Amino acid sequence: MKCTKRAYPSTKDFQQFCPAVAYTAPAMKLSRLLCLLLMSAFCSAAMLAQNSFTLGNATAAPGQKATGILEVPAGVDAATSIPVVVVRGAKPGPVLALVSGAHGTEYASIIALEKVIQVLDPAQISGTVIIVPLLNIASFEQKVPHVNPVDGKSMNRFYPGKQDGTQTERASYVITKQVVERCDYLVDYHGGDLDENLRPYAYWPKSGDARHDAITRDMVLAFGLDHVIIWSDRPKDPAASRYLDNTANTRGKPAIAVEAGYSGTVQPDDVALLTNGTLSLMRYLKMLPGAPTVVEHPVWLGKVDTVSSEQPGIFYPVVQRGTYVEAGMKIGYVTDYFGKTIYEARAPAAGVVLYICGVPSMKKGDTVANIGEITTNP
Ligand SMILES: [Zn+2]
Repeated sequence: MKCTKRAYPSTKDFQQFCPAVAYTAPAMKLSRLLCLLLMSAFCSAAMLAQNSFTLGNATAAPGQKATGILEVPAGVDAATSIPVVVVRGAKPGPVLALVSGAHGTEYASIIALEKVIQVLDPAQISGTVIIVPLLNIASFEQKVPHVNPVDGKSMNRFYPGKQDGTQTERASYVITKQVVERCDYLVDYHGGDLDENLRPYAYWPKSGDARHDAITRDMVLAFGLDHVIIWSDRPKDPAASRYLDNTANTRGKPAIAVEAGYSGTVQPDDVALLTNGTLSLMRYLKMLPGAPTVVEHPVWLGKVDTVSSEQPGIFYPVVQRGTYVEAGMKIGYVTDYFGKTIYEARAPAAGVVLYICGVPSMKKGDTVANIGEITTNP
């Protein structure tokens, strides 16, 4: 509703509006004042409602922080309720979406956003921050890595989702409609899962659109992680965008993905990388005062090689997350259940170990390690 001076009542309107008290001048003045105050309060409330931002049942007016639930209705399987936070800055600005916990046991990234919820002060912010700190509640509660245990699907592989699909697909659909389509920028937070011994890194999704890529490149550098994977072969079709950040990018909203944390741990260093990176990115986007802390000389990774086990058995790593390896170097081995080595895992190329399997359990075809090949030509 738009309130203008003309919307306030004239004396004549007022006499019709409040006829019982319209017969003496002093009473009229007082009553008119009261009526004006009431209408003014009503108009202010209407303007606040107009300027507020609602996500699920969380509504925040400018200068407010609100929490609530985004409901994913039941379908072929159970409904789910996703916690959401809206931080509506006191000043105007863009809408930034922060999403973690697609993989509910990548704990450091979830705890990082829990911290971001606490530290963001709406009075300081220009624009709006939408936070989804834990997308995959069932994975978190049941301690199931990689997938949503309700339907066995990864919650970062089925975007843009389907209204009539299984829970992961329906949740992805709700996130696409309610979060991606309503934001201007997006960050998707991940980390090493329960079985992944991971060093921190970010993804720069290089689409080929120079203007868009310049923004995502700035975003990734402003976030500050010092190893950056250039991911240029992502799906281009918005209807088959697959990943959350790609769902945003294919809809024209610059988005990046970041990873820190490993093997079920919540290390303060990993959490700090993600929380400080978020605040620095918000400075780059002019949503917070101050200058971003930009990584000046990141290690650019032009290609990621996945090493998969050729045998099932017991896995023994011989390198650590972050180790630099040469092509052919042994990075781990697999024995049978009697201790006999049945497979040696070797680096297919020189690079950095982004993550290596952190537990002895190994099936044929499981990932032993991801190795990032360094490029000097990003
Ligand atoms: Zn993940």
